[in-house]
This record gives sequence, structure tokens and C-alpha cells, in this order.
Amino acid sequence: MHRDGWEGGRLLINLAAIAENYAQLCARVSPAECGAAVKANAYGLGLKEVGQTLYEAGCRTFFVAHLAEGAALRPLVGPDSRIFVLHGPPPGTASACLTHTLLPVLNSLQQVQDWQALARTQGRPLAAALQLDSGMCRFGLTEAEVNHLTTHPQELEGIEVTLVMSHLGCADTPEHPLNRQQLETFTRLKALLPAAPASLAASSGIFLGPDWHFDLVRPGAALYGIAPTAEQPNPMHATVRLQARVIQTRMVPAGASVGYGAAFTARQPTPVALLGIGYGDGFPRRLGQTGHVVWPDQPDIKLPIIGRISMDSLAVDLSPLMATGTALPPAGAVFDLIGPQVPLDTVARLADTIGYEILTDLGARYHRLHYDPRKG
Ligand SMILES: *Cc1c(COP(=O)(O)O)cnc(C)c1O
Repeated sequence: MHRDGWEGGRLLINLAAIAENYAQLCARVSPAECGAAVKANAYGLGLKEVGQTLYEAGCRTFFVAHLAEGAALRPLVGPDSRIFVLHGPPPGTASACLTHTLLPVLNSLQQVQDWQALARTQGRPLAAALQLDSGMCRFGLTEAEVNHLTTHPQELEGIEVTLVMSHLGCADTPEHPLNRQQLETFTRLKALLPAAPASLAASSGIFLGPDWHFDLVRPGAALYGIAPTAEQPNPMHATVRLQARVIQTRMVPAGASVGYGAAFTARQPTPVALLGIGYGDGFPRRLGQTGHVVWPDQPDIKLPIIGRISMDSLAVDLSPLMATGTALPPAGAVFDLIGPQVPLDTVARLADTIGYEILTDLGARYHRLHYDPRKG
């Protein structure tokens, strides 16, 4: 173990930045309520720390994908919080929602029937959200199923619909015609059902404008610093910094190759640093020969990742540092792989994916440090 208490990769997670992002989104959507999506371990950043931070920041409505995620979140946030389970209960498990005080999102007539059956055995109405498919063809009741419910209202008896929701498929592309089409479909279908608070927008939908806000928004990505709108400046604060240490440096002679598959060949003598992070840590292998890192001592110099990324390490070309006459970083030096000069969205673009996948892939192997500059 290094004397600072970590080796390999380290993930710094700024909880104050998450709280600031939450406050920014609240202000943007007011008077609508701002909830938070904390599925997938709060997008890889830690359900416990992120859940508690958002609760302290005033968030009272949370969204998870699975029942088990909801059960894990329940003791972390106050009893005055609502936790919606986006996938609804799998067949035969509806009563687990009651055990853990979770609200299911009912996505199909089957889930509606299961929830109604549970309400009957409980002898009281049970609250739930109803999801409509407004054009993404993912989860939710189709138009035909909504029509069925309007002609068979008894199928909703015993279900207290506390939220009617739907999800947008193209919200990160504001000019996409599906955005307004889904808005219109949602508005029309929702009017067929008993009146209830409504929710359509996640992070990107918030930035489409107030028409999309309804009563409640459900951001995830934007809370964690991912740009909500493609090709636009990112208004959110970065929340993560990914660092790795230099294990050793070496001079690779001209004509020699570096790493598996001999994918990189040095044209001239090349100073190389080996960092202790690789795809086994969740760092994308796609970034071999493509990504770059930064040594914070020389923040303006991009250092290319050369060769293929190994399971536990990657190689970085230090030539741009040497060209400036800077002393080369010693073993133990800390490099940024995601940081102020290497934004998450840039890393995602270079890896041919989205910031969401980069965050959720960030492995449990990293030393994780949650910190809150507000609390010293
Ligand atoms: C994941 C998810 C969200 C949050 O989406 P972001 O794009 O991360 O803001 C909101 N609603 C539903 C239904 C989701 O699946």
C-alpha cells in the first residue's frame, strides 16, 4: 500500500457538487418538484453517500430501478421520502414494496392487476405510480391499454395513483421532433386517467423547457455532472475525479513496441509512464491509443494513452512533458484520468459511449473517497 493509503486508481466524489447540482435543477424547475434517480448505486457513485447528500439537500422523491435498490435506500433517507421502483415489482413480489415502504411504478396491465390484488388482500387502497408509454416503446402502458382502463375503471379500483409518468427517448437532442410528439401523447393519455401529479422529464427533459416539467422531474445524470444536452456547454458541476498513480517510468527505444498486441511502436526514444489502472478497474479498454491523461503539475499538457489498456495498467506517452523541459513525474505521482482538464463527457466521447456508462462502469476496485468541501 502506498503511504497515502491507496494504490492503483482512486475515485474522488465531491458530494457538495452533487448538492449544488441538485439546487441548480430545483431552481430551474420550480415550482415543479425535483426528485432524483439513484439507481445503479447512484450511477456508480455510492448510494449511501449520494442518497444522504440529496436527502440533506432537500430531495424527498427518489427513483431506483430494482426493489433491492429501494430496500437498500430506505434506511438511508428519512421516512418522509418517497422511493419509486421504476421496474415495478417482479411477479409475486409486490408485498416487498410494503415491507420496505416503496412505491412501485406500474408499467403493464399485469403489474396493475398484481398491485390491485395486493390492495384487496390488505383491505385498503395502495399508492403507486402509473407509467405510460408516450412513444419510446420501453416501459409503460400503451395507448390501447390506457383506453382499456378508461372503459374498465374497476381495474384501477384500490390503486391510489400518486403519479402518472412517462419517459423521453430523445431529450438530449432538443430539436428532435419526438420530444414534442411525446409531450403531446403524454398530455393526451394522462387526461384519460384519474387526475394525478405528472412527471415526464429526466435530466435532458428538464432543459427542453417548462412545458416538459409538469409536477415532478427525475434527473439522474445531471446531478452527477453529465452534460444534459449534447453539443451544448455543460451547466452542471463536475462531481468525480479519477486518478491513478505512476508505478514506473521507462524509456522505450525507437522501434520497440509497447503493450499487448504491439499496438504502439515508438518512432523515436519515448519516455513512458505506466499507471496502475486498467479495464479491470472499469476504465474503458476502448481508450487504448485514443484517450489522454493529465499530470496536475502540468495541467495544460495532454499525455496520450499509448498501446492497449491492460487489466491493471495502462501506458502514457510523456514526450509532450519532456518537450517542455519539465522534469518527468516520479513513481507514485498522481495523474488525472477524469478531472478538471479531462472532462467526463470528453472521456465518454473518446470511448465511443456516454458519460452514464463511464460512471456506472467505474469499478468497486477503486479506492473511493467521498468528500464534502462544505464540511471541511
Ligand atoms: C434513469 C431514469 C431517469 C434518470 O435519467 P437521467 O437521464 O439520468 O436523468 C429518469 N426516469 C427514468 C424512468 C429512468 O429510467
